[in-house]
Amino acid sequence: MSDHDHQAGSHSGDVGEHRCDDAIAQLQAFLDGELDEATIARIEAHLKQCSPCLEAYDFEAELRKVIAAKLRNDVPGDLRTRLTAVLDRLEAESGTS
Ligand SMILES: [Zn+2]
Repeated sequence: MSDHDHQAGSHSGDVGEHRCDDAIAQLQAFLDGELDEATIARIEAHLKQCSPCLEAYDFEAELRKVIAAKLRNDVPGDLRTRLTAVLDRLEAESGTS
């Protein structure tokens, strides 16, 4: 009864620490959806093997959700569009003096 082929999860060794740097460096871009599929796949593969990085991603993702919800509550989309328009006009006016 030897299940040597079974992946028990404790396969350490070639999950280098550089990968963690890489994963963390791409965190923001990953959550912003700015990465290509190959990079996303690589990072997801890393997160499956690396719980510290997964936690960092989870934390950041949660944080973003909270901030997004807060922003949505504080500033209605309509008002935000108007604010942007006002800011644009101010900028244009100050530019043409
Ligand atoms: Zn990692």
